[in-house]
Amino acid sequence: MRKKSFSLEKSVFKLIVLIIIAILLNWLKHYPFLIENLYTNGFYLYWSTLLRFVFGQIPFAIGDLFYAVFIIFLIYSVFKSIKSIIKSRNKGAEGIKRGLKFINFTLLFYLIFQLSWGINYARPNFNSTLNLSADYYEKADLINLADLLIAKINKIDYSKVKGLRINDHSTLIKNAQSDFQNLKLNNPQTKYLFPSVKPSLSSIGLSKFGLEGYYNPFTGEANVNRLLPAVTLPFTYAHEIAHQMSFAREDEASFMAYIAGIKSNNLSSKYSAYFAALNYVLFELYKIDPKQFQEVYNLTPHNFKSDFNEERTFWKQHRSFLFDYMSSMIDSFLKVNQQETGILSYREVVIWIYNYHKNELPAKR
Ligand SMILES: [Zn+2]
Repeated sequence: MRKKSFSLEKSVFKLIVLIIIAILLNWLKHYPFLIENLYTNGFYLYWSTLLRFVFGQIPFAIGDLFYAVFIIFLIYSVFKSIKSIIKSRNKGAEGIKRGLKFINFTLLFYLIFQLSWGINYARPNFNSTLNLSADYYEKADLINLADLLIAKINKIDYSKVKGLRINDHSTLIKNAQSDFQNLKLNNPQTKYLFPSVKPSLSSIGLSKFGLEGYYNPFTGEANVNRLLPAVTLPFTYAHEIAHQMSFAREDEASFMAYIAGIKSNNLSSKYSAYFAALNYVLFELYKIDPKQFQEVYNLTPHNFKSDFNEERTFWKQHRSFLFDYMSSMIDSFLKVNQQETGILSYREVVIWIYNYHKNELPAKR
């Protein structure tokens, strides 16, 4: 009996400590520049480099295994807890003890996630770091932006792009790494030492969720869905590496991948970036005005259309019922299925792309 009450006290104490740390962390998030200096370019820079150095030595995505073991452990623990509550003479006390343990564990998991990467969500956005305005676009702006991207795609010699299009994992990593270094941004993250990008062990699973890759903050590994059509791979690698480089938000990772790609000396990276951007812009246009989307889509070059269809076919083949729960732009071209998160994240990346190219667009009347 004594032992039990002691353990309960310990759990309550742990809970209070964890809650205080969580409150402090969330308070700190109100100071983006402090986060940038102390965390992103301080602790996170060294911590993520160390994680990549250690886990990058392992040739497969060990983070995928961690997650699998973690899920099995979680299910086992829930069953064990239910069993011990049923068996216990004092069900109420046992229930409280087990419940507290579960809450503490969840809080600890949340804090480790935050400390190992998640705090980066609170960094200042591109308004300040890249001096980019965040003006909203109208339908006419989207059409002009699509025209501009089509013109840029037309300038790329597609026969060379096809020859450079590869599936080779280490070359894709090297290309993305040098593309970021090429940007010569005054940002220590873009030096990106010790790359750790791996084909996900569950690429089929990722495809069923409509995912192109994901970042594992616990091992610092970027995992890429290796089944994706080759046209999307350079952009996807760059996007996942941008997550590793502290660009936690989806729109920011995509925009970093976009500028790294369009400034790349490699035509395959360049085309992949414009391809992704035009997809985003067309998707936005489709949501606003499907008829206008069709008109602009008809203006895209033949090669773009064939790549666009290849990607669409890929998602059609791999999608499952899970797909409907994830936002996906390809699927949304086929059916109007507006989902909050997807709409927001795409819209934000289009805002950055629009503001980046605003000076190249026809002046507003
Ligand atoms: Zn992402």
